[in-house]
Formats: sequence, C-alpha cells, structure tokens
Amino acid sequence: MKIIVLKFGGTSVGTIDRIKKVANIVVSYKKKGFKPIIVSSAMSGTTNDLIKKSRQISNNFVPSEYDVLVSSGEQISCSLIAGRLNHLGYKSQSWMGWQVPILTEGMYGFSRIININKKKIINYLKSGGIPIITGFQGINNKTRITTLGRGGSDASAIMCAKFFKAQKCIIYTDVDGVYTTDPNKLKEAKKIKIISYEEMLEMASLGAKVMQPTSIQDARLNRIDIEVKSSFIKREGTKITKRKNILGNKVIRGISFTKNDAKITLVGVKDKPGIAASIFEPLSKNAINVDMVVQNISADGKETDLTFTIKSDELLKTQRLISKNRKISFKELIVHKDVSKVSIIGVGMIATPGVTYRMFQALAKHNINILVISTSEIKISVLIKKKNTAKAISALHKEFELDKQK
Ligand code: ASP
Ligand code: MG
Repeated sequence: MKIIVLKFGGTSVGTIDRIKKVANIVVSYKKKGFKPIIVSSAMSGTTNDLIKKSRQISNNFVPSEYDVLVSSGEQISCSLIAGRLNHLGYKSQSWMGWQVPILTEGMYGFSRIININKKKIINYLKSGGIPIITGFQGINNKTRITTLGRGGSDASAIMCAKFFKAQKCIIYTDVDGVYTTDPNKLKEAKKIKIISYEEMLEMASLGAKVMQPTSIQDARLNRIDIEVKSSFIKREGTKITKRKNILGNKVIRGISFTKNDAKITLVGVKDKPGIAASIFEPLSKNAINVDMVVQNISADGKETDLTFTIKSDELLKTQRLISKNRKISFKELIVHKDVSKVSIIGVGMIATPGVTYRMFQALAKHNINILVISTSEIKISVLIKKKNTAKAISALHKEFELDKQK
C-alpha cells in the first residue's frame, strides 16, 4: 500500500475555508493513488483557549483532566475534515486517539507514543476510506486520555508514519519550509531545500518554530523522511532526512537566535567541588531552564566567576533563589538583561576547520562584542547584546554564503 501521512497544523485548519482547502489537498493525493492517513491539530487558537479555561476554573487543574480538556480541540477539526471529504463524495471517518488506540506513556501533558494499533486503520484504508486521526492525544494504560506537549500533533504524525510504514510524512503548516534564518528578521533568508535531522533539531530547539523538537527526535530515531510545506501555497518545501541523503554539504545550514535571554554572573565564587551543583540545584528544582554555562579558570585556585543564561522572564525568580541559597557564597551578582544567543548550525563544520574563526572574525568586523561562547559538534553559539542581533545574523549569513542556496 502506498501509505502517506499528511499532517495539518492549526492555521492550516484555522477556518472553515481553510478546512475545505485541506480536503482538496487530501483528495489530490488520493487521486495520485496514495492511501492518505490524515493527522490534524486543533483549529488555531482553540488549544490556547482551552488552556485558559482550565486556568480560570482552577490554578491547580488536575493534569489528567487537563488532558481531557485540551485534547478536545482536535476532535472538532478532525470531524470537520472528515465531513468535508464526505461532502466531496469520499469515504472518510475521524478517529480519536483512544479509538485507534494510540498508546502513550509518561506524564499527563507530556506523554510519548509507544504503540499504535494498526488493525482498524489498515482495514479502513483497504476499504478505500480516508482515516482522519486526532493529533496531540493518546491513551495510557489506565485508559485515560493523554496529550503529547504543545505542538504534539507533529509527534502523532511521525509516529503514524512509523507504525503504518508510510512512504512519506508531509507536515503542512503556515510557512513554506525551514529558512536559513527567520525571514522576518533578515530578508535575505532563503528556504532550505534539504536539512539533516540533527541540524533541524538544533534549529527547532533554538527557536525556529516550525516543528516540535521532540517529534524531530522521533523522526531521527525511526528514520522517517519528512517534508515541511505550506498548505496555503503550492510550492516545494523543506526535506528533513538523514545526513547520508544530503549531497554537496554546506558548512553552515542555518542561523538561529533567541529573543529573551538574560545573563547572570556570580563573581568570586569559592572554587571547590560541588559548588556548581549547589548553585544550580534550586534552579532545577524550580524548573528554571539554564542554558549556557561558563566557569572561568580560577587564577589563584580559590575563587572563580561563573556565568550562565536563562530566559528573561525567569530572572527575578532566579535572583531570589540565588540570594537565599545558603550553600553558596560570592562577592557580587551581575545581571545583563538584554542579551541574545546567536547560533550557527551545520553538520559540515565537523569536517571543516576554521569555522569558529570565521564566525568570530565576521562579528568582530561589525564591532559586535561576544559575551559568552559555547559549542557543540554541529553548532557554535555566541551570546551578544540583544540590540546587535540583526546585525550579527546579517554578517554571519553573508560570511557563510547562506543567501546562495542552490
Ligand atoms: N493543538 C495542540 C497545540 O496547540 C497540538 C498541536 O498544535 O500540534 O499545542
Ligand atoms: Mg501547532
């Protein structure tokens, strides 16, 4: 069977008119001889509204009830898609996660799919039907409804592609692909035709909000080829695949940046074992996400400076936790509010010397001061003043010739 998974995001099913267009897209695949399985998100705004309602009822809404509530938006969009396909003369039916069933494990609100029962869907496909499956939700071993985290219908689509052995998984969204950097920030940004899972994972985790990061990890582990494209305009999108499938590697594939970061430096911290752990323990207990961490070598072996970054909206809480932390002592706490992390990403840097130098040189030429540096195998990040972000992105985009996409 030529099974294809088509996933539609919230804006793609955002209005009745959009849903009619989605049905036409589905029909076009059916006509090409595919057996489409549709996975849909809720109509845009619906999930946010439901979350708001849960907060209005109680600031301590029970997680299992929360999942029942916030998963309900998908029921609406899926039945509307099925309804439209029926209207057009096609056999189609919606399936809630529990009806398939899609089995999950883990916490409510952040569950992961562990199995999908194929039987009913396969029979339905064989009978010529088009199944419309709710994204974002499943059922756990207590037969309670679960959800997969915000943006989780991407994960539903990837896992459907895996379990139904689909030939393809297409993620339809409101942008026409993944760009070398945010096109709203830099008009020279170019659509990337093909990108590896690893690079896409970095781009997504660092703020390119095209797909849910954990779903990309699912795709990578299961070797599912993905295409991201727009449901609004007919145009080639971006392919996400394994490194081996990418020829003519570019050194750098894309540039991402963060918007609301803050930097904290503790000056004159005692240099002894366990001190970093003592600093970060209360932060982790309070779910504060620490990003870059740098510790200086202490010249005298007694004291050191420690710098780290967090999201700006967690700055006050972090400052409070540090000042009341009795396990640590330091001379001074310095805060920089308006900083941004700019990262260049590319698997090509593994085999190419001099990338770090080129990055620093390009920034220096534009008089941009680097506050913190961190690197991984396929990424180099610098922390800079927020007001320099656009300038830095533009300089790096030119330096690594990202405007020259083939
Ligand atoms: N409707 C859910 C959300 O808004 C899932 C999704 O959009 O993928 O997070
Ligand atoms: Mg979404």
